[in-house]
Amino acid sequence: NHLAGRLRAASIGRDDAPFLKNHQTGQTVTYGAFFANAERMAKVLADHGVAPGDRVAVQAPKTQAMLELYVGCVLAGAVFLPLNTAYTGAEIDYFLGDAEPALLVCDPAKEAALASLARSAGVGAVLTVDARENGSLIEARDRQTPGFEAVVRSGDDLAAILYTSGTTGRSKGAMLSHRALASNAQTLKEYWQFTSDDVLIHALPIFHTHGLFVATNVTLMAGSSCIFMAAFDAERIRDYMREATVLMGVPTFYVRLLETEGLADAARGMRLFVSGSAPLLAETHDRWRAVTGHAILERYGMTETNMNSSNPYDGERRAGTVGFALPGVEIIVTDPDTGAELPQGEVGVLEVRGPNVFSGYWRMPEKTAEELRGNGFFITGDLARIDDDGYITIVGRAKDMIITGGYNVYPKEIELLIDDVSGVAESAVIGVPHPDFGEAVVAVVVPEPGSAVTEDAIMSAIAPALARFKQPKKLIFRDELPRNTMGKVQKKELREIHRDLFK
Ligand code: ATP
Ligand code: MG
Repeated sequence: NHLAGRLRAASIGRDDAPFLKNHQTGQTVTYGAFFANAERMAKVLADHGVAPGDRVAVQAPKTQAMLELYVGCVLAGAVFLPLNTAYTGAEIDYFLGDAEPALLVCDPAKEAALASLARSAGVGAVLTVDARENGSLIEARDRQTPGFEAVVRSGDDLAAILYTSGTTGRSKGAMLSHRALASNAQTLKEYWQFTSDDVLIHALPIFHTHGLFVATNVTLMAGSSCIFMAAFDAERIRDYMREATVLMGVPTFYVRLLETEGLADAARGMRLFVSGSAPLLAETHDRWRAVTGHAILERYGMTETNMNSSNPYDGERRAGTVGFALPGVEIIVTDPDTGAELPQGEVGVLEVRGPNVFSGYWRMPEKTAEELRGNGFFITGDLARIDDDGYITIVGRAKDMIITGGYNVYPKEIELLIDDVSGVAESAVIGVPHPDFGEAVVAVVVPEPGSAVTEDAIMSAIAPALARFKQPKKLIFRDELPRNTMGKVQKKELREIHRDLFK
């Protein structure tokens, strides 16, 4: 259960094997060199008064050093707490007050602003690291010699706190145990058949579960290597495919890659394309397959649970679905009002149970009690349906469901119809306050570039398939949908922008 040992096991005796190719420097870092630095980081933590169980908050650019710090935390028994690089000082202030870390690591450019916040929040020390791996953290690391005996931890001890993305409300700190992280990485490694021959293109941020745990833990546990890019760059990723075997991405990666030249040729030798963190349009799946011959493997997870379900490695990867529950994970669909399990085929709230599930929300016992049942099932807040073949489809989020004139409307049903209209790239259906209906259905539509699609054309295409109460009361055209770095559509923001539409 101890994560440190599990992350190291596959590379023991293979110190010269490559772990990471640094896109920025072109240098290849071996497993031996990486773990030597992680051990140095663990010593830096101890030197700065970080005791087992203490939180280490990090808001810093994506670098190899940040991965070393992550593994250093695991070795030292500290709780790694990465923060979105987009967060402002005011937001960081909240997280510092909530998590009370013993140490904050930040970009030197933000040190002046954050150090005073850290001081008032009682944070013991502040160290820095920038995008080029300069800063006091690096200086402290380089003063240390390698060699560090991992602090003994039990499966229940926390390895990390990750704040949720804040798509539906205020971010919550999900407490993740050594067992949760280790078991999920092991499961994914086996399910997706990772071996030491794999080379992963790592272009995801490492403050989020996808890039940090799915991508990094699986690579380490399989003894694979990765090409480590600080940011998404479609052209470079396409080129790296010639020396890689796996890409993990959010749906927007695939949409942008499809716009590059020479994709089919570059992708020929790849073994696996994984998508998650937001819904992949069936159309993107189909186009990718038509161009490259590869079926993108879509999986589903969340900060609180790691990964829950995946399309099969061998077998049909069904577009628009997130596949089956992973081995060891139970998924059920329940009635949102009664909590009773629903028959297969009905839409309800997806609940999940397994060793992958978090230990609760940090310092939010009431919230934890609301969402984590006594029988171990976590109420995800996602709406889903399981079809006759067992494939799970995420239908949306319970919080995005629209109640109009007393009727429930699932935005996804309408979005799928609108997206099918020719000339439409994508859409987001939201509920907007309405004096008569409570909420009114509103569709925000992104036309394809150069398309002259009209409101009338869309309405007459979708109306026959929709009961009157589901038909949008208004259509709004936009050049793009607001998204965060993980490719998640920000419906909260759309609702905010259009809240006075019917006033
Ligand atoms: P918050 O919980 O703070 O509102 P969030 O739920 O967006 O934010 P994350 O934990 O980063 O924060 O995201 C998990 C959510 O992402 C899931 O609950 C689900 O709604 C969505 N998601 C992840 N993968 C997929 C997928 N393959 N298809 C559809 N939705 C997905
Ligand atoms: Mg969530």
